[in-house]
Amino acid sequence: MSAAPRLDLHPPSTASDGTLGPAELVRAAAESGLDVVAITDHDTTAGWAPALAALPAGLSLVRGAELSCRWYGEEPPVPLHLLAYLFDPDAPELVAELARVRAARKERGERIVALLRAVGIDVSWPEILAGAAGGTVGRPHIAQALIRAGLVTTTTEAFGPDWLGERYRLPKEDIDVFRAVRLVRAAGGVPVFAHPRASRRGRIVPDELIADLAAIGLAGLEADHEDHSPAERAHVRALADELGLLVTGSSDFHGTHKTVRLGAFTTEPEAYERIVAEARGVTEVASG
Ligand code: AMP
Ligand code: ZN
Ligand code: FE
Repeated sequence: MSAAPRLDLHPPSTASDGTLGPAELVRAAAESGLDVVAITDHDTTAGWAPALAALPAGLSLVRGAELSCRWYGEEPPVPLHLLAYLFDPDAPELVAELARVRAARKERGERIVALLRAVGIDVSWPEILAGAAGGTVGRPHIAQALIRAGLVTTTTEAFGPDWLGERYRLPKEDIDVFRAVRLVRAAGGVPVFAHPRASRRGRIVPDELIADLAAIGLAGLEADHEDHSPAERAHVRALADELGLLVTGSSDFHGTHKTVRLGAFTTEPEAYERIVAEARGVTEVASG
């Protein structure tokens, strides 16, 4: 690593709702001066092999995923995202849960499209599914259909309250967050709560839940993220400190689906080293 290593632990690829393919993502990571990059697609490990095959010299790849979870402690249940690093991609229970969630995403996507079509909005589910090109389908793919139809001009607008953010937002069958933390640990992986205070995305969970998750194996919290205000970042850091959790920072770069750039937020090497140390050796960091 160079004198000031740069680590970005949260970009997805076209294996879910990013716009760079896994190979393009690792090349872009090297070009933007990163020393360590993760690949964290929603509910899939399909991008791991192509990212690994294209890994440029000098870049380290942390294979991971971002799991769609839900906390059932409130009604309606609160959706949240759990980053999982260096887990065994063949762990049967986790594999089954991810497949189930991917199927639930399709089912929800189709229902959102039906809602839109019912009010005369001309979007096509087969076209949206084709846009996901075999990757995990998500609202960003539906957002592209709204853009193509000329109804909104940006993905951000498509996530506004009049569209996919509220009016045409439907829940999906996610993984119970306690189960997700246990499954990731059982698969030798390291779970980190993604953007835990991102209130601009919707409801957030109480700190008490985070403490309960820490007690069963949560390893860390993502603090530096564009969806956190400076006060929210400080809150997450203080909470992590109190609970003995590690702290990450990441771009959550989604290519042209978002404006944030790769490496816009980064993780300190110490936190990365803790992640590597806690991983149970099933999936190693790969070095190009
Ligand atoms: P889904 O996983 O289908 O519920 O869609 C959520 C995904 O859309 C997450 O990966 C977010 O990163 C992304 N997303 C959420 N809000 C926005 C936004 N305002 N603009 C672009 N992407 C967003
Ligand atoms: Zn995403
Ligand atoms: Fe997320």
